[in-house]
Amino acid sequence: MVPTDLRSSWLHLHWYHWAGHDAFSGSTLYACRCGVVRPGF
Ligand SMILES: [Zn+2]
Repeated sequence: MVPTDLRSSWLHLHWYHWAGHDAFSGSTLYACRCGVVRPGF
């Protein structure tokens, strides 16, 4: 897992795209091209 880069995280609006499923929570994961990943909405 790549740590979130705070310097880039606020410089743009994240464009999340489907990145797979979280095996632990069972939710869908979305990732921005900058590396930020968050669970499905
Ligand atoms: Zn981003």
